[in-house]
Amino acid sequence: VTDATFWCERAVVGAATEQSVVVEISDGRIVSVTADSAVPVGATRLPGLVIPGMANAHSHAFHRALRGRTQVDRGSFWTWRDLMYKAAERLNPDNYRRLATATFAEMAMAGISAVGEFHYVHHQLDGTPYEDPNAMGHALIDAAAAAGIRITLLDTLYLYGGIDADGPIPPTGVQLRFSDLCAQRWAERASELRDRGGVRVGAAIHSVRAVDQESMREVAAWASRRGAPVHAHVSEQPAENDACLLHYGRTPTGVLAGAGVLGPKFTSVHGTHLTSADVSLYSRHDCTMCFCPTTERDLGDGIGPSDQLVESNVAISLGTDSHACIDMLEEARALELNERLRSVSRGIHRAEQLLTMATVAGHRSIGWDNAGTIAVGQRGDLVAVSLDSVRTAGTAASAALETAIFAAGACDITDVVVDGKIVVQERRHRSINVSEALFDAIGEVMGDV
Ligand SMILES: [Zn+2]
Repeated sequence: VTDATFWCERAVVGAATEQSVVVEISDGRIVSVTADSAVPVGATRLPGLVIPGMANAHSHAFHRALRGRTQVDRGSFWTWRDLMYKAAERLNPDNYRRLATATFAEMAMAGISAVGEFHYVHHQLDGTPYEDPNAMGHALIDAAAAAGIRITLLDTLYLYGGIDADGPIPPTGVQLRFSDLCAQRWAERASELRDRGGVRVGAAIHSVRAVDQESMREVAAWASRRGAPVHAHVSEQPAENDACLLHYGRTPTGVLAGAGVLGPKFTSVHGTHLTSADVSLYSRHDCTMCFCPTTERDLGDGIGPSDQLVESNVAISLGTDSHACIDMLEEARALELNERLRSVSRGIHRAEQLLTMATVAGHRSIGWDNAGTIAVGQRGDLVAVSLDSVRTAGTAASAALETAIFAAGACDITDVVVDGKIVVQERRHRSINVSEALFDAIGEVMGDV
């Protein structure tokens, strides 16, 4: 049993921002929260505004190697996809462990205490399984532990390179690494992965392009037997909707609903181009929608209907997806700022709602039901955001949370506690030199590209 006591200059407790808050953590869980308290002897001081640990509900760790490189040649969709495939080709369990460790350490420094890793690079380059068929999944699990954050490994079924009016197109090239050939083989492999301490195993359906409806049904059945979350990429680009309508005569959301995938443990990722019938389906089945605004803008996807989803009581979580940047505060404010641009009006989502998306909704979306608030019984995740940096200095006490959400960035996060353990202190990761680790790991994978 490990005990730790933290004193927060200010902290978000429930709906309020309180001052001088003492948080006691025992065995990774919060056991007391007391506001207006003196600094206890031996307490670790957390300056600025302390918010709950954030959940990055949608990540592909290896995309971190693409940052910047994909912007060359005016950053077309094709420069992005070519490079993404090139990186996917070069991964092996060892270099992926190093790359993911560095990426997850960057997430820790950005105040992320849990990541939902949407994992589809399963096999050797020609599609042959590794000696340990879960070697790549285990590399990701080990990486999260080394970086000091929790992981939900969303083990992804990927069968086809696409669908057209005639049906599925077999995978080619690097896509062979992604495929388990059928849902049953996927289930056998994924069943070997176990939940433990900071690890949860969930399922994912890559997309309606990559999985047929019968196989979707099998993924949903597997997840429901395990009580695990299920995620899927949905309606990111209009072309995906068009191909789906041509083949199935239904939207991607309609196809997933028809396969029995929708439910409280389902998270639809992107949902950029939805019909109002799609939104109603998510509402009726109590699903979560995961928006990834910095990736969606980077790829030119469009703006998802967060206003309609919130109005229909659909919870929204957030993810950094392609890691064009890793900054959950930027994801959160982008959701509101995108709405402002589209609606030409201000104030659709308040700062508290945006924080809930980055915290409670995110953790629930990836299967951590007892994380995301600073309250007794919750996981001991605390994130200190500086209120005296060059970006945040001079704010009013009454606008501390608004300052954190709308003006601060990952670089303003000074201290991060995950399950009661200090992972980041005074802007330094305690066990990893993160910029060096990123430089080495990305250099190893990308070489001269
Ligand atoms: Zn994605």
